[in-house]
Amino acid sequence: MTQQQISISIVCPFYNEEDMVNFFMGEIFTILESINRPFEIVCVNDGSSDNTLEKLLKEQETRKNIKIINLSRNFGKEAALTAGLDFARGEAIIPIDADLQDPPALIKEFIAYWDKGYDVVLGKRTDRSTDSLGKRMTAQLFYKVHNKISPTKIPENVGDFRLVTRKVLKAIQELPENQRFMKGIFAWVGFKTAVVEYKREKRKQGQTSFNGWHLWNFALEGVTSFSTVPLRVWLYLGSFISLSAFCYGSFIVIRTLIFGIDVPGYASLLTTILFLGGVQMIGIGVIGEYIGRMYMESKRRPPYIIDRIF
Ligand code: UDP
Ligand code: MG
Repeated sequence: MTQQQISISIVCPFYNEEDMVNFFMGEIFTILESINRPFEIVCVNDGSSDNTLEKLLKEQETRKNIKIINLSRNFGKEAALTAGLDFARGEAIIPIDADLQDPPALIKEFIAYWDKGYDVVLGKRTDRSTDSLGKRMTAQLFYKVHNKISPTKIPENVGDFRLVTRKVLKAIQELPENQRFMKGIFAWVGFKTAVVEYKREKRKQGQTSFNGWHLWNFALEGVTSFSTVPLRVWLYLGSFISLSAFCYGSFIVIRTLIFGIDVPGYASLLTTILFLGGVQMIGIGVIGEYIGRMYMESKRRPPYIIDRIF
């Protein structure tokens, strides 16, 4: 028997989502069965410490077309998504979060655009009122800063919920980096893109694993993955400070020559030293950030390890 060609692959990372599994499968299957094309659901269990895997296995018993990739530990959402994408066999691939904050009903619209010949269909959140004010503001700031300084523009308020064709997926898999900032990677490869707008729902169950510090690191990773402006800026800042220091130095020398020795100036001296010391440390910090990334990247470790495939 030749295996039936799979048309749609849904890829979903699960991390401690035991409360969501049943509901998720119910919703997704309702939508996909109404679309009437061969599909598969690729679930990645990202080292959950609760009963997510058991719940997924239970679903697999009663429903067809579920594939479960069990990772050996928690690798983070980006790696889990990468794992799922690597195992998706469909012609169109749709990553979606397990919490259903992104409405699965949109999948129909995604597919309509795909049929029209688009290679990428993005889900864009027009209304994020269900996210906290802090999260919305920092997200806004992130997109602004990132898109200012990075040649790869990330579309604002677009998550991982989207449709990509196999051609796009192939391109994504060509990128060899093992620290995968998926939003940026998706944007970097390009292709003919359509945008579908939607309202972001509240998380149905459980809670987000992305807050404050986590998001900050995520943002840093995003910027340093796709831009070298933070490195280059030191050239200009350094030049500016050196030039100012030179001018100020000349001024003091000349003033001393004209008016004689001038001892006071302890305050300005100390301020300058501290200021420059601080500036230098920030510069070193930024360089360190990049060296750190190079170091991690140079180990060539795989982005994820699979424990077992069900
Ligand atoms: N997730 C994951 N590994 C992690 C953290 C999260 O696979 O280490 C999954 C999680 O199960 C969900 C998706 O990534 O399917 C998005 O997570 P979450 O809802 O916590 O993020 P938010 O919507 O707040 O950005
Ligand atoms: Mg969520």
